[in-house]
Parts: sequence; structure tokens; C-alpha cells
Amino acid sequence: MTTLIESNEHKSLREAVAAFAKTHPHTTNAEDNTRLWQAAAKLGYIGVNLPEAYGGGGAGITELSLVLEELGAAGNPLLMMIVSPAICGTVIARFGTEEQKREWLPPLADGTRLMAFGITEPDAGSNSHRITTTARRDAATGDWSLTGRKVFVSGVDLADATLIVGRTETVSTKEGRTGNLKPCLFIVPRDTPGFERRPIDMELNAVERQFELTLDDVRLPADALVGDEDAGLLQLFAGLNPERVMTAAFGIGMGRYALAKAVEYARERTVWKTPIGAHQAIAHPLAQAHIDLELARLMMQKAAHLYDAGDDVGAGEAANMAKYAAGEACVKAVDQAVHTLGGNGLTREFGLARLITASRVARIAPVSREMILNYVSHQTLGLPKSY
Ligand SMILES: Cc1cc2nc3c(=O)[nH]c(=O)nc-3n(C[C@H](O)[C@H](O)[C@H](O)COP(=O)(O)OP(=O)(O)OC[C@H]3O[C@@H](n4cnc5c(N)ncnc54)[C@H](O)[C@@H]3O)c2cc1C
Repeated sequence: MTTLIESNEHKSLREAVAAFAKTHPHTTNAEDNTRLWQAAAKLGYIGVNLPEAYGGGGAGITELSLVLEELGAAGNPLLMMIVSPAICGTVIARFGTEEQKREWLPPLADGTRLMAFGITEPDAGSNSHRITTTARRDAATGDWSLTGRKVFVSGVDLADATLIVGRTETVSTKEGRTGNLKPCLFIVPRDTPGFERRPIDMELNAVERQFELTLDDVRLPADALVGDEDAGLLQLFAGLNPERVMTAAFGIGMGRYALAKAVEYARERTVWKTPIGAHQAIAHPLAQAHIDLELARLMMQKAAHLYDAGDDVGAGEAANMAKYAAGEACVKAVDQAVHTLGGNGLTREFGLARLITASRVARIAPVSREMILNYVSHQTLGLPKSY
């Protein structure tokens, strides 16, 4: 039984990543962030989930999420790990052609290339069935033309290509706009003509920026399509479930980082006779935050194990629940950590205030708290839908 008690192998990996992460202080600029990414990749951490035959570690999302959690716990939650190895690497490894695997997996694993992922659209938002980015195939050449808009796509400037979710034109316009999504995935290299990006001014204080994308008749070769254009949602969720597990790891790592800072402070800071950590009004919320993070991690591990065992359906529910639990635990841990430091909680020196916005990412993306509650209401509890 490996799901409840961490194996010795996983404990060793956790310790090794934690030791590595300690030697890399919190990165505040793109250059240091890239250096950290490449050093982690060299040690096999970034591609730990990718197949060994293509330069990866041959492990799974269990191990990849462990890596992200430990990096985050040391103050460096590498956001692009959620996207590049977890979504794009997984989708290419599972559904890509031999050429696509050979072209992309080794450099994604060794850190020389990065891939972003774009599904969110301004007029669709949480309702991804409404996406309208459309792929048209040239009957003569088999090449594709992609037209549409995306928003909030992370790291497009850092990434060599973006995996764009579109829909084929064969779906009639009426069905296309209101019916069930039949997605297809395209690799769009960063400098392809017609593929424009505009950074969004976020209050995030993070190295990775978000972009609004315009695709205006972007011409792509036939082999830009990843997987089968008819396989639809199955292929997409092969990438989206790991994304949810990884966002849970992002939240748990960040929550642990904030909590550790608060505990350290509460042990020392004395304004009456005892350190403030002796007051239960300070200690109990920190203890609760710890419990919530541990519980979220258990659910994350369950989701990761189900996914790695090939149970895509079981992993779907668990990954949603894990993302929910981790998002909530992260937001609460950061909130309480900031409060524990009093005025220092809002200084740049202590570095916690910036996490107030960063922690909210785990609640909003890639699927919001409410959409997960909707999913559990309908799918798990069988309640009727309001929308
Ligand atoms: C930092 C960051 C990074 C991101 N990176 C990426 C990326 O790399 N690639 C990408 O494709 N996207 C990315 N996103 C986008 C993210 O996935 C979306 O923001 C998210 O899916 C929510 O969509 P929305 O922002 O359009 O909100 P909306 O869908 O407009 O929702 C707004 C609010 O309404 C609520 N709501 C909506 N529908 C319902 C309903 N039926 N019932 C109850 N409540 C509802 C939501 O929960 C939310 O609180 C990123 C976002 C952020 C903030």
C-alpha cells in the first residue's frame, strides 16, 4: 500500500529536492528562475514524469508533484512545471507521434526547451465548452490554419512553443458555440507569423507572466496537431488532470513556505511575557493550517497515484478535490502567516505579503473553487445543474 504512507524512495526524493531547493534562494528575476529550472532539470527533477526512452525519469505525476511541492516549500514554486512537463509533456508522451516525442520530450526533460499551454478564452472563461479558437485544414496540403484568442496564458515569452486548444471547423457553428467541446491540440512555435502575444498587467509579483494571445490565420504544418482530432476530451483530460494535481502541489508548497515563516517568527517574537506563539489565538490557526495542508497533500497523493495507475476517471474526481483542498489550505495558510507577523507581514523584507495574491492563483486556476464544487455537486452527489 503506497498511497497512504510515503515509500522510502519517495522520502529520499523529497529530501534530495528539499536539500537542492535550499541551495537556491527565492528567485526574483527571470534569469535566476531559468538557472534554477535548468539546474533542477539537470538533476532529473523537471522531467521525472517523462518516459525514460525520451530522456525522462520514467516516473509519474506522483513524483513530479512531490518535486514541485518541495521547491515551493523552499520559496520557489515553479509555475511552469504545472504546464510544461505536466500538461504538455504528458499529452505528447501519451498521444504524440514518434517524431513529436523525439522532438519535444528530451528537451522538455533536460530543461533546454519549455512549452506553455493555452485553453482559456476571454469569452469562454470557466466554460471551456464555449471556446471558439478554430482550426481549418487545407484540403490540398493537409496544413492547418488556426484563428482565435486566448487569455491568461502563462510563460508564452519563456516557452519555445504553446500547446493551443482549439476546435476543428467540421463542427457546425451552432454546435461549436453551444454544444459539447471536441477539442484538438496544436503545437504553435513562439515566433509563428500571426501568433501575437500581449502581456497582461497582473498584480502578481511573479517571474512568470500571463499573456493575451491573438491567433490570426496562423499557418501550421499537418504535424502540428497532437493526437487524434476525434479523440476529444479524453486527450485533453490526460493533460488537465495532471495540471490539477500539480496546482495542488503548487498551493501546498506555497502554504508550507508561508507557515514555516510564521512558525519561526511566532517562536521568537515576544511582546508580553512569552513568545506570541504561546498564545492559542496565534498557535491554533497555525496548527489548523498545518492540518489542512497535510489533508490536502493526502488527497493530492491519492489523485496522483490514481492517475499514474491509469485510472483517468478516478483521477478526475480526486484531482479536482485535491486542487480544491490545496487551494483553500494555501489561501488560509498564507493569510494566517501574514497575520502572525503583524506589521512585518506586510513588509517586503519578510516576503509574505506578495503571497496574498500568489496564493489566490491556486483558488482560481486552472479551474476555480466554484467549478470544482459544481463538479462534485453534479458528478459525485448527483445534484441537478443550475447552468
Ligand atoms: C496566474 C494565472 C495563470 C494562468 N495560467 C493559465 C495558462 O497558462 N493557460 C490557460 O489556458 N489559462 C491560464 N489561466 C486562466 C485560468 O485557468 C482561468 O482564470 C480560470 O479558469 C477561470 O476563468 P476566468 O478567469 O475566465 O473566470 P470566469 O469563468 O469568468 O469566472 C469568474 C468567477 O465566476 C465563478 N463562476 C463561473 N461560472 C460559475 C458557475 N457556473 N457557478 C458558480 N460560479 C461560477 C468562478 O468560480 C469565478 O469565481 C491562468 C490564470 C491565472 C490567474
